[in-house]
Amino acid sequence: MQVITPKFNWQSPLVPLNLSKVLFVVLHHPAAFTATPEQIHQWHQANGWNGIGYNEYIRKDGTVVICRGDHIGAQCENMNSKSYGICCEGNYDIETKMPEAQFNSLVERLKYHKTRFKNLREIGPHKRFGNTACPGKYFPLQQVLAALEKDNEFENALKTWQSKGDMASPDYWAKNAVKGGLCKGEFVRQLIINAAKQ
Ligand SMILES: [Zn+2]
Repeated sequence: MQVITPKFNWQSPLVPLNLSKVLFVVLHHPAAFTATPEQIHQWHQANGWNGIGYNEYIRKDGTVVICRGDHIGAQCENMNSKSYGICCEGNYDIETKMPEAQFNSLVERLKYHKTRFKNLREIGPHKRFGNTACPGKYFPLQQVLAALEKDNEFENALKTWQSKGDMASPDYWAKNAVKGGLCKGEFVRQLIINAAKQ
């Protein structure tokens, strides 16, 4: 997953976002099949706004573009100082399938943000917070939330093992028991021995 931070020229300086106040992650689409973040920046400035309002933008090829980043966005009315807005390129009112690369980047970014926003309450579509159809009826919200839930399943299992006293090194497993990861034989061996005692 590529994360880029282009330089945008803002009409006025951005205001830092207090991460501990972020309660919501708001999901958007630009309602355009293709749109570069630079184009959106121009569109938003043409409206008389400061510039691209999203905190970050995910292209269809999975590239993550930091826009306002950890500064207060202009993406969800009355919610900007307590939310973080992620916009996914496309028009998900018409496009029925989100490209896999984009979907995967979105899930990865949400996992990452969940660790940063300690008081996060909800990841929701823009329409949940305002009078809009954004991010479109085909936006794969349930699939995204299911992918995150699957992650919780693993974390919860680790906690269970740890509470039973059967796992001496949950941090090791959290780090290494991942897709494409490699686990050391002695750790796997101990785990098998512990599992047999259950
Ligand atoms: Zn929106």
